[in-house]
Amino acid sequence: MAKRDYYEVLGVNKGASANDIKRAYRRMAMKYHPDKNPDDNEAEAKFKECAEAYEVLSDPQKRKRYDQFGHSGLKGAGMHDFSRMNVEDIFSMFGFDDFLGDIFGRRSHRGRRSSPSRGFDLETTVELTLKDVAEGVEKTIEFTRQDTCPECSGSGCAKGSQPSQCPGCGGSGQVARGGGFFQMVSSCPRCKGTGRVITDPCRKCKGSGRVARKRSVNVKIPAGVHEGQGVRVAGEGEPGRQGGPRGDLYCYVKIKPHEFLQRDGNNLIAVIPISFTQATLGTKIEVPSLNGTKQLKIPAGTQYGNIFRIRGEGLPNINTGRKGDQLVQVTIETPVKLSTKQKELLREFAKTENKTILPKSKRFLEKLKRYFDSSK
Ligand SMILES: [Zn+2]
Ligand SMILES: [Zn+2]
Repeated sequence: MAKRDYYEVLGVNKGASANDIKRAYRRMAMKYHPDKNPDDNEAEAKFKECAEAYEVLSDPQKRKRYDQFGHSGLKGAGMHDFSRMNVEDIFSMFGFDDFLGDIFGRRSHRGRRSSPSRGFDLETTVELTLKDVAEGVEKTIEFTRQDTCPECSGSGCAKGSQPSQCPGCGGSGQVARGGGFFQMVSSCPRCKGTGRVITDPCRKCKGSGRVARKRSVNVKIPAGVHEGQGVRVAGEGEPGRQGGPRGDLYCYVKIKPHEFLQRDGNNLIAVIPISFTQATLGTKIEVPSLNGTKQLKIPAGTQYGNIFRIRGEGLPNINTGRKGDQLVQVTIETPVKLSTKQKELLREFAKTENKTILPKSKRFLEKLKRYFDSSK
């Protein structure tokens, strides 16, 4: 079977960052993990395919060779043979075993946490108004995360106690099942392969070593930020294992709709109705802007849909700080429920109306005439 493109396997584009690749791999590995797809050979093959893709794309050297020469560039690059590896080994190889443990509510079968691993990243949403976007803002974000239990410092044991040897496996972490010729050795279900059990669990965390704790952090959101963009707060994710560093917190921006203003890039658009006399004779109107109202001159003869620009009243560019404009589109309201007097005045006006004062209708009537003339 021909090998698929590694970027395609993980569903990322060629320019994806190391973090994007890591996230993509986690997502795929979760989807195809054999625990979620028992007895599904295809899922296991996909899981291993993802691991292979991740091994290459997560290693700058290998990724470079692959980008330049494709699959053949990786000959002799020290790739693992994933088809021969078991799932747990693949996970611990990439330092994701804790992740799986959390997701599936158990620790990895091997459970030997010899190497430090980084904690998991967390995601949260921060809601902003357009005014926040215009000025930049510092927000206090409250969230809950799994933190190291303060009572037992993460050991899971009650004060003064230690984990003891697992009576299920005698501390080896493995148990033999079946008998006679075909004896199967598997990881001990009681201690989950660690060889040790907590006999006197910590009261606070019930032996897990972690507790959910509320946390609040101040996050600076830069002016000009866009919907869906994330601000990374380094080291505010979950704690690592074995002294590994904390993960990061990602705050994704959501922008509340404004009553009058719509965002278009860094411009703001307002649609304002005016009366037909205002449009005809010209006037000054007040238009809503981010900072109160702004006066706008409507010239005589303004047409339905005309757009006026108020320079510098838009949002700043997130990189340069250069401000966009506010665009005001006018619509024209046709008056209803006229008084007898008003109707009279309008009829008077209509008598004086000739086609030359209505540029659009004039052009339309000319076109119509030409059309009928030419089709005669
Ligand atoms: Zn505890
Ligand atoms: Zn055991």
